[in-house]
Amino acid sequence: MLTAPPRLLLVHAHPDDESLWTGGTIAKYAANGAHVTLVTCTLGEEGEIIPDGLALLAAAESDQLGGYRNGELRAACAALGVVDHRYLGGIGRWRDSGMVGVPSNEHPRAFINGDFTEQAEQLLAILREVKPDVVVTYGPDGGYGHPDHIRAHEVTTVACAQADVRRVFHVVTSERATNEGVAELAAVADLPHRLPAPGELPVTPDDEITTVVPIADHLDAKLRALRAHQTQVTVWQDDSGSSCYALSNDIAQPIVGHEYYILASGRPDDAESDLFGGLG
Ligand SMILES: [Zn+2]
Repeated sequence: MLTAPPRLLLVHAHPDDESLWTGGTIAKYAANGAHVTLVTCTLGEEGEIIPDGLALLAAAESDQLGGYRNGELRAACAALGVVDHRYLGGIGRWRDSGMVGVPSNEHPRAFINGDFTEQAEQLLAILREVKPDVVVTYGPDGGYGHPDHIRAHEVTTVACAQADVRRVFHVVTSERATNEGVAELAAVADLPHRLPAPGELPVTPDDEITTVVPIADHLDAKLRALRAHQTQVTVWQDDSGSSCYALSNDIAQPIVGHEYYILASGRPDDAESDLFGGLG
């Protein structure tokens, strides 16, 4: 056990990623008294908008989505128990770059267009101030290939190498849990979203996963946080407790009782089910 409250810092690319990827983990450690810092790199200005009534917020219309999503993120942080939230470089410094090959990649403030050293130094300054024991971000593929996620991984990797961080984890999606969850959803008669085709969802083979954090006791908080991101996420839940979410692509993705990580640096001992396990 750590003598002082453990300190967890997560680096995510857009508002909603904290809840989609790590919502249960954040809620669990915050509830257990850890100091949790969330760093979000952009405002998600280029996101697709699900509700018709909010369509005019889009980048190509009024370009107000980023400010709107900041409000969604604040509500999600409240649901998860995050009190220390930062934007990399301050709110509005870096803009959502959009998917690979779209014109918004060229925006002068696009995260992937920004000066890499400046971005790494912005994160390093936060790391030196907060002094987290554990840092979480995506793996080298950004989890699913989004350029901003890949950049978040790269910035975090470089900044952590210069800071005194005890463990770095990459959050991933379990292949086995996804397959089991999709099989359960396939048995639901009135699922409002389409099921993913085999291999359609980006997943990681379970033999590569080092750390499985149980979050079943914090699913309510995760679901509340996901619902806060109404421009991006639709949440479905039935009476039996089975649940899924869908993004603007309308593919049903199971919400499962664990979140999955690969230890990227630091001591592996006792880290099988606890990001801080064995850190004395
Ligand atoms: Zn994202």
